Amino acid sequence: MKAQVGGYARAEDMAHAIRLLADAEGMGRVLAGGQSLVAALNMGLSFGDLLVDITGLSDLRGVREEDDRLVIGALMRHADVATDPLIARHVPLLAQAAPLIAHEAIRNRGTIGGSLAHADPAAEFPACAVALDAVIRLTGPDGEREVAATDFFRDVFETEMREGEILTGIVVPKTQAGERHVIREAARRAGDYAIAGLAVVIRGGAHRIAAFGTGPTPLLCTVAMERLDAGDVDGAVSALSDALDPPSDTQGSAAYRRHLAGVLLHRIATELGEDV
Ligand SMILES: Cc1cc2nc3c(=O)[nH]c(=O)nc-3n(C[C@H](O)[C@H](O)[C@H](O)COP(=O)(O)OP(=O)(O)OC[C@H]3O[C@@H](n4cnc5c(N)ncnc54)[C@H](O)[C@@H]3O)c2cc1C
Repeated sequence: MKAQVGGYARAEDMAHAIRLLADAEGMGRVLAGGQSLVAALNMGLSFGDLLVDITGLSDLRGVREEDDRLVIGALMRHADVATDPLIARHVPLLAQAAPLIAHEAIRNRGTIGGSLAHADPAAEFPACAVALDAVIRLTGPDGEREVAATDFFRDVFETEMREGEILTGIVVPKTQAGERHVIREAARRAGDYAIAGLAVVIRGGAHRIAAFGTGPTPLLCTVAMERLDAGDVDGAVSALSDALDPPSDTQGSAAYRRHLAGVLLHRIATELGEDV
């Protein structure tokens, strides 16, 4: 099938991008790496959109330090996230997650902002954002605002972004002394979307666990976190299973996904030297 688009415009700067989206009256679509959007257009899942190409907005590239936080521009490609020295030093979870995404060709074009905005429930970066307690930065016709990652993901492919808004970056707390980051997933083949995955951060002795591929959005598993904080790994696995509401599809049944998530949590706990 051939993609049917309503037009293409390359934004010159942020104000221009916002104007283009506003003028499109609901038919404007931000184009970043195109790795999900172009596939959707080719499948006829979306048509008639004005594609607003933001790849020329240099403000959305790069990583900068803001006191005890790191601001990662929306246009940082997955391959850049994997190798950036500031990310490796201050947010190793994202550096670990990037190579798990798809294949090299996709990682060379797909962007972190696109991944967050697309909100695929099996995607790695949204779960990392939740586990890290990150904040999503948005700019739109009404100015700038920030949304906590824990509030950002609403449903499958649905976020808190309003019409005409552009995701400009993700703000992540820098790692503190003794902080640990781990992401593990189960997929049929390397590069496939995860059937189930967990991103875990231990900060100030407290665990944050975000599950992905196991429900409509990345899920912060609060009861499992409390059990792990108390050193009760089996209790954490059982709480995780209770919290998840996975789909059954061609990749695996809901029961299989729950089981995988439990296995991953056990493995992570072992790796982190918890009592198992
Ligand atoms: C074969 C294949 C396998 C894949 N496997 C994985 C995987 O294992 N894990 C994974 O996480 N992803 C996977 N992906 C998706 C890939 O990571 C995409 O790059 C990512 O989901 C979207 O990023 P993008 O920059 O390409 O966004 P685009 O495709 O350009 O856009 C995606 C959506 O987000 C919106 N958007 C993009 N950027 C912004 C922004 N800054 N502000 C507002 N809206 C925006 C677009 O309008 C569109 O709706 C896979 C893709 C393919 C084709």
